[in-house]
Amino acid sequence: MKYAGKDIVLYDGPKGSMFFAKGYKGCADIYNIEAYEDSKDIIRKYANAGSEWIQTNTFNSNGFALGSRGYGDRQRDIISNSIRATNEVADEMLAKNGWRPEVIFITGPTGRMVEPYGDTTEQEAYDSFYEEFKIASECGIYNAHIETFMDLNEMTVAIRAASAIREELAKKGINYKIICTMAFESHGRTMFGNSPEDCYEVFKEYGVDAFGANCGCTAKDMLKVIEGYSAAAGPDAMIIAKPNAGKPITQGDKVTYAETPEIFAHDCLALLDAGAKIIGGCCGTSDLHIAALKDLLENS
Ligand SMILES: [Zn+2]
Repeated sequence: MKYAGKDIVLYDGPKGSMFFAKGYKGCADIYNIEAYEDSKDIIRKYANAGSEWIQTNTFNSNGFALGSRGYGDRQRDIISNSIRATNEVADEMLAKNGWRPEVIFITGPTGRMVEPYGDTTEQEAYDSFYEEFKIASECGIYNAHIETFMDLNEMTVAIRAASAIREELAKKGINYKIICTMAFESHGRTMFGNSPEDCYEVFKEYGVDAFGANCGCTAKDMLKVIEGYSAAAGPDAMIIAKPNAGKPITQGDKVTYAETPEIFAHDCLALLDAGAKIIGGCCGTSDLHIAALKDLLENS
């Protein structure tokens, strides 16, 4: 897509809340096996809204995160099913619209405290990410979006694992893309105190292809994070912004986000003006928010 004369990418939104809206509970990743068609339908909704990059439903698909949810032995099927579903949606879009959205493999963090903050060793975390990325690459997806990390140290471990896969694939002439986004709080640092400038130093060192912020805060609060990345990385950097659609509102065990698609879309424009080139949403975002953002981009 174009915005203000420059090329940008419209990304998608999260899967979890879309599953909850369909009445599913718990770990969304297992529904790649247990509710394949519904899982695919959620990805299709984002593609139909205009998403140019569409993510697999694999946020919890590393060994630690799946293991703690009781699905450690289902890892390969969870990952391969989601890649198949996302590829099938991409093919449908190609047939329908004449262009194919890019399929992006995602992972969230281990859910453990990695050393020096906790007792999960860097080697254990590395092995967990390496195995996950290896499975995805064996399924033919040559990228990894490492997202919603709060600890730059754990992010660095995951990047090292992805870099090892990248090196192996490079020998076969295959290009592998590493994409990283950290979750920043509304004050502009992650829960572990990392600033966008700290993060960029690591992303630069490892030649990360695209980086930025997802989750953690609203588009308004994310603005200073994107400005920080932009100042550090310069105008050509592929900066990603996937803010939440508002602040979380907790009622009992239910968390909702109140931002309308129109407000969300409007606030996202400032992130693009600040240097973001890849834009989508995180918690609270639905396909309606992405569709509203597409509308606004096409008419501004
Ligand atoms: Zn989120």
